[in-house]
Amino acid sequence: MDTQSPIICWFRQDLRLGDNPALVAAHRTGRAILPLYVLDDESAEQWAMGGASRWWLHQSLGALDRRLDGALCCLKGRADLLLLKLVRETGATAVYVNRCNEPWRIVRDARIAAALAADGISWHEFHGSTLFDPERVVKADGEPYRVFTPFYRRGCLQQSEPPREPLPRPRSLRLHDHGRGFSVDNLGLMPTIAWYRGMANEWEVGEQGALRRLDRFVESGLPGYKEGRNFPARRHVSRLSPHLHFGEISPNQVWYGALQRSGDIRLEADIESFLSELGWREFSHYLLRHWPTLPERNLQTKFDRFSWATDAHDLAAWQSGRTGYPIIDAGMRELWQTGYMHNRVRMIVGSFLVKNLLLDWRLGQAWFWDTLVDADLANNSASWQWVAGCGADAAPYFRIFNPVTQGQKFDPDGSYVRRFVPELAELAAEVVHRPWSGPASERRALDYPEPIVDLRQSRERALAVFREI
Ligand code: FAD
Repeated sequence: MDTQSPIICWFRQDLRLGDNPALVAAHRTGRAILPLYVLDDESAEQWAMGGASRWWLHQSLGALDRRLDGALCCLKGRADLLLLKLVRETGATAVYVNRCNEPWRIVRDARIAAALAADGISWHEFHGSTLFDPERVVKADGEPYRVFTPFYRRGCLQQSEPPREPLPRPRSLRLHDHGRGFSVDNLGLMPTIAWYRGMANEWEVGEQGALRRLDRFVESGLPGYKEGRNFPARRHVSRLSPHLHFGEISPNQVWYGALQRSGDIRLEADIESFLSELGWREFSHYLLRHWPTLPERNLQTKFDRFSWATDAHDLAAWQSGRTGYPIIDAGMRELWQTGYMHNRVRMIVGSFLVKNLLLDWRLGQAWFWDTLVDADLANNSASWQWVAGCGADAAPYFRIFNPVTQGQKFDPDGSYVRRFVPELAELAAEVVHRPWSGPASERRALDYPEPIVDLRQSRERALAVFREI
């Protein structure tokens, strides 16, 4: 390792060495690199990371640090102050970053770049977290898109350059020796109570785990993805979302990874369907970039007049997977145990919270923020607004998922429910999604709640309130 004055490569949501434009550019300078991570809860305010994300981040920084031979400098506190201090202490002359889309980071970074410039330190920003630059995709009239299909088909696929091919990992990095014990452990990310065991069994955190997961998915999940992606018990989705959120893998690596199979004509529809899901990720990040209030405010302002219910018992039953609707409870418990929930089930539990329980979408968003390992400000906010009907290109308000028929359709033999709701493991497939319809003696023996709301009545109530606005 090197001790001369370095340049700083500040890792944020790009915890990888492969396809990392900022790192490649920093490496090309030939200067020694000081790799940095800053846990900046103060600037993030209400969007400071939730519990599951912190657990993931701890593992991910550990993995990155090992790949950097222990050179990663981890600091905790306000990034603007810490960065200026570090620059002065080390004599660093430049800072290299990949741009982030979260509004608070954009504001903070602009402030830091200006403060560094005043000290004669250069700030180099690269585009590395989305396939298409959200600033460049606009309609003919210069306004941003609000509807997914024209955004993706016209704005991205037809009118933009194809996504950049992944950049190779720089070989033999010259790393700066900061010589002090700023290790990942100092960030205090690990919870004191070991509630994370289920998650630890489920994931291989870090860049190598992400690349292995992509390989496995391309080999065995992608064939049949288009149909299989709707069935939570099948292994057709990639489960790359936390790796993408933390930037352990780039969307470009995933995009071109899937395209490797494009020679196989039988996979054409599966590949197209998978790429369009990456397109939904682009759309969410795009919306956040153009509507920075997306995490807090209804995109459709008429929803500001909506009268949400406030029942704390209903919320607690939903959070803990005790609503009496098996597919909802399975999803909420999958989330608690693994830090993940299948997309189909996210839509069902979201619809149930917002429409059957009539609870504000922001309550669901906040719970997901704390419990998902892939909690992502853009995807989470845009998806909750989509579910609630108040977002851009949202599900219409009258689309209310019926958790029983959804369960029967997408978990027909009940194996997903049985895995996460073991009280129902012995029930036959015909009743596993409607345990209340079995014989009374059997029901009494189950340690499982009665439904907390009547589906038909709650649906009528929701439609009436939605009609008012
Ligand atoms: P795959 O089907 O393998 O898709 C590949 C990638 O495409 C995903 O990793 C993800 O990055 C992207 N993607 C897929 N579906 C969507 C989508 N609908 N919107 C945006 N991007 C998508 N996703 C998050 O990453 N973080 C969140 O916090 C989040 N919150 C959500 C909240 C709700 C209420 C809903 C309905 C969806 C939410 N999603 C969120 C979107 C989606 O459910 C997950 O991205 C997906 O389930 C991740 O699983 P996967 O990687 O196996 O997906």
